[in-house]
This record gives sequence, C-alpha cells and structure tokens, in this order.
Amino acid sequence: MKFNTKTIHGGQHNTDPAYGSVMPPIYQTSTYAQSTPGGHKGFEYSRSGNPTRAALERSLASIENGTHGLAFGSGMAAIDAVLKLLKPGDEVISTNDLYGGSYRLFTKIYEDFGIQFHLVGMENASTIENFVNDRTKLIWVETPTNPMMNIIDIKAVSAIAKKHHVWLAVDNTFATPYLQRPIDLGADIVMHSATKYLGGHSDVVMGALVVKDDFLAKKLYFIQNASGAVCGPQDSFLVLRGIKTLHIRMQRHCENGAAIAKYLVKHPKIEKVYWPGFENHPNHLIAKEQMDNYGGMISFVAKGNNYEDAVSIVEKLKVFTLAESLGGVESLAGHPASMTHASIPKVEREKTGVVDSLIRLSVGIEHIDDLIEDLEQAIG
Ligand SMILES: *Cc1c(COP(=O)(O)O)cnc(C)c1O
Repeated sequence: MKFNTKTIHGGQHNTDPAYGSVMPPIYQTSTYAQSTPGGHKGFEYSRSGNPTRAALERSLASIENGTHGLAFGSGMAAIDAVLKLLKPGDEVISTNDLYGGSYRLFTKIYEDFGIQFHLVGMENASTIENFVNDRTKLIWVETPTNPMMNIIDIKAVSAIAKKHHVWLAVDNTFATPYLQRPIDLGADIVMHSATKYLGGHSDVVMGALVVKDDFLAKKLYFIQNASGAVCGPQDSFLVLRGIKTLHIRMQRHCENGAAIAKYLVKHPKIEKVYWPGFENHPNHLIAKEQMDNYGGMISFVAKGNNYEDAVSIVEKLKVFTLAESLGGVESLAGHPASMTHASIPKVEREKTGVVDSLIRLSVGIEHIDDLIEDLEQAIG
C-alpha cells in the first residue's frame, strides 16, 4: 500500500464490528465487562488498552513502516518511556541542538538517575564513534534538528548503532513519515510529538513510538502500561483523524515552506536562513537522499542580529501567530531563545546557533501570498 493510502486505511480494517461505522467509535470507557474472570474481548482496562487508541496505534505502525505503535499522553511521555529502557550506569549519545524539552528531561531528570548523556554534533556521523563505549545503550537523534535545521544521516548513524549493538531512536516530529521513514533507514525506535504534524490542528497534546522489533515492542508496552502515561480515546480519535490528511497537509507545508525560505534568503534585511532545501545547506545532499522534500520549518536571523529586531518582527506578524509549538494548519512564529529553548543555558544554546535574534517559523497551509505579505510588513 502506498503512503497516501496508508494514512487513511493503514491498520483500519473492521474498527467497528458492531455497526460498521466508517470512523472508529470513541470508546470513552475506563473498563470493560467480563463474562467470567478473565473472559473479555481483548480489553480489560483503558490504561492497558483501549479500542480507539489501538486503532491509532495500528495507524502509527502502518505509516512509519513498523509493526507496533504506542501512543502516549505527550511527546515527552513517549521519550520518557524510551529512557525507562535504561539502567543506572548506562550511557546515551545524542545531538547537541536537541528540542529543549528533551534536553531538560535528559539532563534534569535522567542524569540524576545515573544515566550519562553525551550531547554531540552529529552533522558528521562518524563523530559518534568517539563517544561509544560498552556502557552505551542508546543513540537519540533528531533530524532535522529543532530549531537549527541540521540534518543527520540516519543510515550512517544506524550503521554505527548496529556495529556496537546500541539502539537508535529517531525523533521524527519535524519530518513526519511523509518526508522520512527512519525504520526503513535502520532506526530501532521512531518517536513523535503527535501534538505537531500528525495531529496537525493544534488541538491535542500526544506522543507516539513505533518499533519493528517484538522484543522492544514488548518492553515498551510493559513500560507504557506500568508507568501509565497513556492518552485518552478522544485525543486518539483526533490524531487518527489528523493522520488521514497528513500527506496533503505536508504537501502544502512543503510548497509554502520552500516559497518562504526562498523569499527570506533574498530579503535585504535578512542575514541567514536555515532550511535544508538550500543547496548550500551543509548537509543538503543527505537531506535530499533521506527526505522526500524539505518540510515547512524554517529558522532565520535578521541583519544586525539583535534581540529587539527579532522581538519587533514576531510582535508585528498578524497571519503568523506568536506561539509555542508547530505543525498545525495555521502558521506560527516562535522565538526559540525565550520560548521553546529557554530551558537550555544561554552559553550552551548559542554554541549551536540558537542566538537571541533567531526566529523559527512553522509555515502553515494558508495561501502563500498572505503569508509573504505578512512577513513583508513585519520585517519592513
Ligand atoms: C514538541 C516536541 C517534543 C515534545 O512533545 P510534546 O508533545 O510537547 O510533549 C519533542 N520533540 C520535538 C522535536 C518537538 O517538537
């Protein structure tokens, strides 16, 4: 089945044996009647499993070319579940320009449990090898990275992970499976903040994991049930509905993103634009190889590189809303240094390019003329 069909039908056979409803019912229930102790129809308690969540989990597995999907109450809860595969003394290698929330979870919570994190630049995948030792258990990759739009070669990292028998997890939130399928490139675990493009309408907070290996699936299912950070049936329904239009939304996000990146790079008041579709992006060739297009996320810095100009631009925007988050149908603008990445110390942040004047755009699916007109009046 092709991707654009999987988004609609993947794992969705016979979701309502009772009445044949085309959309899966929202099973708003915590528990299920049993005919005799243990006599049930596959569901006992909604933390352990819920039919609406199960329909979503099958869809997630299908679109990421995995065999098992697991849905969580947020993207952070999904990452937390992966980290619970580890034990004190274990080591993790990850990128140095991580999503701020991932950085906070790694360094402020899991370091205290005795897990060591090496946060390194991975634009050249071979760097990773310098940090592998026999305590290394997990490599955690985000690509494109947030907000600097660095590209990491998933296939090359996966070769290193396999050589050393280390799990590779990829946060695929920015690319979505429309653009990039990490399991096909050798990743063991794909993670999503389904809050973003999968949900796609900024109306739900949710996380997801997809794997292809039964052993990992069993371990993660155990953690999902034992720790209990599950999502509810209503939210499962919303994300399942969102996924049905993922491919056509992404197509427009990519078209609008490309048009805005090209508009900004020619603008006399703009210093630098970060977007992997530019031929002079340092890892453009890898992006071209592992992604089907370049997405709708763009970061940029105005000339003069000062904080006040950046704030003035984001305050003047009218069609773009100044807000955290990304991946919805509506365009958003963010100021990473004070918003999404405020939990990363300034010196650490600036080393990776997250300067006070950086602006991040999540380009939506509105008419391109309105978006460019809005940027034009705000940049001046
Ligand atoms: C938003 C985001 C997360 C965290 O997901 P939540 O749903 O907000 O918990 C993780 N990684 C990336 C890349 C994100 O953008």
